[in-house]
Amino acid sequence: MTTTAPTPITPAATEFPLAFQLTPSTDARAVLEREAILADPGFGKHFTDHMVQIEWTLDKGWHNAEVLPYGKISLDPAASVFHYAQEIFEGLKAYRHADGAIYTFRPEMNAARLQRSAVRLALPELSTVDFIESLKQLIAVDGSWVPDAAETSLYLRPFEMATESFLGVRAAQKVGFYVIASPAGAYFSGGVSPVNIWLSTEFNRAGRGGMGAAKTGGNYASSLLPQELAYTKGCAQVLFLDAQEGKYLEELGGMNLFLVYKDGTLVTPESDSILAGITRDSIMQLARDRGHDVELRKVSIEEWKAGSASGDIVEVFACGTAAVITPVAQLRAEDFTLGEADAPAGELTMSLRQELTDIQYGRLPDRHGWLTRLDA
Ligand SMILES: *Cc1c(COP(=O)(O)O)cnc(C)c1O
Repeated sequence: MTTTAPTPITPAATEFPLAFQLTPSTDARAVLEREAILADPGFGKHFTDHMVQIEWTLDKGWHNAEVLPYGKISLDPAASVFHYAQEIFEGLKAYRHADGAIYTFRPEMNAARLQRSAVRLALPELSTVDFIESLKQLIAVDGSWVPDAAETSLYLRPFEMATESFLGVRAAQKVGFYVIASPAGAYFSGGVSPVNIWLSTEFNRAGRGGMGAAKTGGNYASSLLPQELAYTKGCAQVLFLDAQEGKYLEELGGMNLFLVYKDGTLVTPESDSILAGITRDSIMQLARDRGHDVELRKVSIEEWKAGSASGDIVEVFACGTAAVITPVAQLRAEDFTLGEADAPAGELTMSLRQELTDIQYGRLPDRHGWLTRLDA
């Protein structure tokens, strides 16, 4: 039998990783200034000395891969991202291990998710190889910005946007991919403290067939008003329900949700309008490894109410890269509350948080091959 190789539909970009050009910064921060920032970095306030930029055009594909001094991006006021929000992003962290080496966590999952987000927003897909290479290139020049204090990290923010100057409504033919990096302090500096969350019934985050499964700025824009409302109710986060029936749990504005049952079962909402978190996926794996049943399925607010009343639901937590795991104390809604506002963090919640961060920081063996070294 003879076989012929299928004709590729699109050029196999993954086979030929991009070559990066470096332009070193001429005003990189001095060691003392950097160390002062790393001693108290906060979150998202300070940025490293360099950034990655890769251009894409319809005729050339991805090209001009560069590491440049961190600085302003100059765009025409008609650039379509300003008008039609054709933009996607990712978020992952670089962790410094005790031996000084720098690792990141499951970056191929972020690359794949950026590709899925790109498809939904009619943006070009960057290959996984080029995505990971862009992180390594940035760390090669800015590795000294990865802090080494406990629970600190360098937050990496890849993003992609339509840079074409054109007000017509169609997918842009000129796009940029960028990576910036920002040192991050321990999310909970005074110890992990549970949060209260507000149930949004007036507003939804995403609907069927919308962009809920894509990591795009538009979903965040739609969550800001309900988030403001949550603050007025004494809550740190909003919980969204499905837009169709207003019955099923979806997620918080930027974190996925888990309910823990008395028998050890973990339940997390299944929906095609929520963002499939990498933290969520990792927690499901760690819990299964320990022998817990883990269910990814529809969960109604009625189920939470009933489980809370009967005492069957014993812990609730939210999860995402920034805070890893945040225990939930109380759910507040217009006409009911579940749980106590001062409830302590759950035991399983905290032990899963510990295990996951121990793997990320190299304090436990990387048994699932989740770590990728960035500085070698
Ligand atoms: C990024 C994000 C999450 C969490 O995803 P991780 O991969 O765990 O960081 C959850 N929900 C939304 C809407 C997000 O944008």
